[in-house]
Formats: sequence, structure tokens, C-alpha cells
Amino acid sequence: MKRMINVLLVVLMSVCLFGCGESEPKCEHANTSTTYEISGLSIKKHVVCNDCEKEVSKSTLSKLTYVYNKELVNDKGIKCTLISVEVDGWSTVTINFEVEGTSEKKRTFEIGKMYINGYEEAVWVYVSELSGNRKSMESEWLTLVKAEEYIVSQDYEVEIDYEITDSNNYKKLAEKEVKFNLNEYVSIEEAES
Ligand SMILES: [Zn+2]
Repeated sequence: MKRMINVLLVVLMSVCLFGCGESEPKCEHANTSTTYEISGLSIKKHVVCNDCEKEVSKSTLSKLTYVYNKELVNDKGIKCTLISVEVDGWSTVTINFEVEGTSEKKRTFEIGKMYINGYEEAVWVYVSELSGNRKSMESEWLTLVKAEEYIVSQDYEVEIDYEITDSNNYKKLAEKEVKFNLNEYVSIEEAES
């Protein structure tokens, strides 16, 4: 009888040993933060758990696309949308605009000047003879935005000065400036390398 009690105690203790280990709350890593850095000509992605601070995953990307789809201009038969900003492992930063003609009359759209945080960026966007929903994708390299810094903080004030002219008689229809911040993106798309 005493031996049976001893065996029973050992069994109970074992159950407790395993049971106690299991009852400890296991972190589900439900709450994570993602950071990116450029190194070795590629973009490294780190996902870290905010609760237990463990690295949940690590991967290498070839390109990051910050998607904006933000309408900047809709005026005098021209629509200009900021589509995206792309960053690659070579530290190239590219800004993509879509320019669309919205009237039956031919229009010319030009971005003559762009300022980033008050400094003039060397870009020139020029699209002529736009009409009847014809679209044009315009890509420009940004030299004042450093890829290594942009993937950490996108807080850049941008101003573009644009002109819309009648393609037939060169009459100026609009000459304005528009301001936006590069932190107004709606999503980030990742391209695996
Ligand atoms: Zn965790």
C-alpha cells in the first residue's frame, strides 16, 4: 500500500512537472514591428515581437514599393496622381507619377520644379498632347531622398510647381504649386529577392 502511494506521488509529480511547463503562457507574437535596412546591396527585413522582443522572422528583399495613389492635380483637363516611391538594394529612390488627360482637348503638363524639405530636386516631368483619358507613367530618380533614411522615416515635405498648357496654341491654363508629405503612403509592397 505504501509503495503504491509512493508510485502515485511520483506519477502526480511528473504530471505536475510537465503540466506546469505547459501552463506557462506562450507568447503568440501577435504584436510585431517591422523594420527595414539596406545592407549588402539588398534590403533586410526584420520582424520583432513587441511583447517578448524576440526576432520572429528575417528575410531579404530586392525592392520596396511605398504605394500612395494620391491625386495631386485635377485641373484644366489634367489629372496627376502620385502612384508610388520605390527603393531598391542599390539605394535608388524612384518616384512614379501617372499623368492623365481628362478632356477631349490636348493638354501639356509640366513639373518644372520640385522641392524636398525646401531644397530643389533635379526633376523634370513633361508630357504633351494628353487628351481623352490617355495616360502616361512618369518616373524620376530622387537624389535628395536617401534610401537608407527613407525606409526608416518617410517624413519629407514635397512641393511641386506645375503648369498646364493648351497643346495647340501654347496658352497657359494653370500655374500652381501643390504640397504633400511622403509619409502619406497607404501600403508597402515587398519584392522578394
Ligand atoms: Zn512574442
